Amino acid sequence: MPYPVTLIPGDGIGPEVASAARRAVDASGVSIEWEISELNAELILKTGQSLPQSVVDSLDRTRVGLKGPVATPIGGGFASVNVALRKRLDLYANVRPVHSLPGIASRFSDVTIDMVIFRENTEDLYSGIEHEVIPDVVTGIKVITRTASIRIAEYAFKFADQLGRKKVTAIHKANIMKLADGLFLRCCREVAARFPHIHYNELIVDNASMQLVMRPETFDILLLPNLYGDIVSDLAAGLVGGLGIVPGANMGDTHAVFEAVHGSAPDIAGKGIANPTAMMLSAVLMLTHLKELEAARRLQSAVEKVYASKKHTTGDVGGHASTEEFTDAVIAAMS
Ligand code: ATP
Repeated sequence: MPYPVTLIPGDGIGPEVASAARRAVDASGVSIEWEISELNAELILKTGQSLPQSVVDSLDRTRVGLKGPVATPIGGGFASVNVALRKRLDLYANVRPVHSLPGIASRFSDVTIDMVIFRENTEDLYSGIEHEVIPDVVTGIKVITRTASIRIAEYAFKFADQLGRKKVTAIHKANIMKLADGLFLRCCREVAARFPHIHYNELIVDNASMQLVMRPETFDILLLPNLYGDIVSDLAAGLVGGLGIVPGANMGDTHAVFEAVHGSAPDIAGKGIANPTAMMLSAVLMLTHLKELEAARRLQSAVEKVYASKKHTTGDVGGHASTEEFTDAVIAAMS
């Protein structure tokens, strides 16, 4: 029986990298019944619905999605559809493995970077509660709850426990946001106490940012509230070669949606040069979630082979290949 999966091509480079990832997954030996679901800025503006019901219906049927980026207008316009989807399906854990790939010459090529970021996905300043008190005075509300903080901390520690990871670092700004980040930290400590064999430490987000650049190899599992998780994810992507290669998973108790860390990259959309690695590695996470471990391993090692040979990589990581050439090379490496 093929697995039903909702494929959301999205905006900008989304359709290009989604189609590349679909080709690669189909070549990995697994049988997927793709249910294509349109979700992009044009459709949202046309229908006036920030999260069309058809997308939610499809994900309710399949329970698993592979999603391209959907653009969010800056400073006005409609609310982020990515945030809306995560909240609507209660995809509370955003998981982003950040690993060095072979053959990529980054400033950090001489160290092995192998960290996994766990970002709380449903609250914090992403609650979207903003208020203009009087003209030119605006407040934005940061929401931190015990329920959400315990849930993401448990998710991170259970993952660390299952995979034999050694250390969890909680990242915060509780010296300034004493109540909000203070609550987040108390929850992390409470969960950490249940896993005494895993080393637990805490870093203030500004210090964590510096340590990540100076000593990235010392990080293992990172546990963060939503906003710091967003920013630190891009920083971490920069350590291993950029946004083109870092995958992600949005996990809930009933649904899972896999998507790259990068956005819609309008500057390169439609040119056929986007790097589909992040989307392909998100598909590897999806295959692992579906327990198709052999297909996941084949796709992961094909991507690594293409990087190691340095021949068919895209411009963002120093190569010259198009999206299609890279995809062809990954598929060839699997056969
Ligand atoms: P968002 O605000 O939607 O999260 P972002 O700030 O992460 O977006 P992106 O749209 O991801 O921004 O793009 C940031 C930069 O990285 C751009 O210059 C873009 O071209 C580059 N980039 C992002 N993804 C890729 C990719 N898959 N391949 C090549 N370059 C990429």
